[in-house]
Amino acid sequence: MKFYQLDAAQRRQQLVAEGYLTSEAAAAWAQPALPSSVGQALSENTIGEFALPVGIARQLQVNGQVYQVPMATEEPSVVAAASNGARLAALNGGVTATTTAHLVTGEIVFADLPDPSKVQALITERQTVLILAAQEAHPSIVRRGGGVQLITATVLGRFLKVTVVVDTQAAMGANIVNTICEHLAAVLEQWVKQTALVAILSNASAQLTTATVTLAPETLATKAVAGAEIASRIALLSELAQVDRDRAVTHNKGIMNGVEAAVLASGNDTRAVSTSVGEYAAHTGQYQPLSTWQLDQGLLVGTLRLPLPVGIVGGAISALPRAQAVKALGRYDTVATLQQVLASLGLVQNLAALRALAGPGIQAGHMALQANALAMAAGAHGPEIGTVAKALQHTTKDLATAQALLADLRQKG
Ligand code: NDP
Repeated sequence: MKFYQLDAAQRRQQLVAEGYLTSEAAAAWAQPALPSSVGQALSENTIGEFALPVGIARQLQVNGQVYQVPMATEEPSVVAAASNGARLAALNGGVTATTTAHLVTGEIVFADLPDPSKVQALITERQTVLILAAQEAHPSIVRRGGGVQLITATVLGRFLKVTVVVDTQAAMGANIVNTICEHLAAVLEQWVKQTALVAILSNASAQLTTATVTLAPETLATKAVAGAEIASRIALLSELAQVDRDRAVTHNKGIMNGVEAAVLASGNDTRAVSTSVGEYAAHTGQYQPLSTWQLDQGLLVGTLRLPLPVGIVGGAISALPRAQAVKALGRYDTVATLQQVLASLGLVQNLAALRALAGPGIQAGHMALQANALAMAAGAHGPEIGTVAKALQHTTKDLATAQALLADLRQKG
């Protein structure tokens, strides 16, 4: 039987047999996700937990390694599409991914200083003093090999902006950078005899991860459409996204279907990722697709580039048992590995969506899987869900039809 045809317990057993899960981890995945003490401690006014299914994007090949990527999502067909995209990429040697250094930027801003240029020069002159002050603010990150790398100052109209670049090692780094910025702000306030307007990290990120795949067109063929035609239509769709903002946003949403589901499962801050990605998509002044697909000497080359401000320790990652389990299953041993897997997942997710658009259309696959959700919306429980979803495959997929099928099933049963 194929992975998708197994039940959840059988899927866990297969991952144990493949060496991706230990028996203990498999047993833990069968238990409730959140000890109530963790839920109480992580957020406020807690009344319970909010659960989402975690599915596995299978056999994603990145830089010669094969990953099983856990994805937390409510949208039917996202995990299936990711697995399908990963399969297509693997037929072509997999995805290649690279990432730049993991640095996080903070800013300390003063308004209406009497002589901002003088303060700007002072910050350059006293760089070492400031870096030592930053080390005092967060000695543990320095002991781990990170800490402030650079402090610069820019005049922005009536504002003087001090930019602090921090190596946050294995952490996403928001709290680390905020602690450092607030401490540095106190030092600078003494120098300029004025209170800083703001001292906080920036969720914009100049650190980018790039994933690339090169595909032989024949591997993209669908039942009805030849591979070469699919490939040239994908290249055309990519070109359209560069000139049509409406298409670019939807193109990027398809990428984020994969990225955000895997970020959420990893226990990272999804808002930090989505805001930095949104800023990057518009950084040229015109909102752009995050990926491009081009024909080059008869091959289809896809490249995705995006910022991924994530970590593998700290925040909720260390507190949530499921995030720890995802980290082990995903083999996210370093921040760079996680970033490269996320970008590769986004790229193959995008590939699967574009191939569907270029071939049979999105709805054929999507609505087939949406039938389960429709059956549940109609009130189906347990085995009724599968029966109603199956019956919906041959008729109009809307709520009224699902309700009628359910009523019919109950009457007969
Ligand atoms: P933490 O504040 O949890 O700091 C990192 C933790 O990981 C520290 O306790 C650190 O230990 C520990 N650690 C263990 N090993 C390492 C290692 N190799 N490298 C680095 N740290 C290590 O997390 P972050 O600073 O990453 O902050 C992320 C959190 O901040 C997220 O939950 C996010 O939602 C939230 N946040 C986001 C904001 C934003 O995006 N605008 C704003 C504010 C908060 P030690 O103490 O010994 O150094």
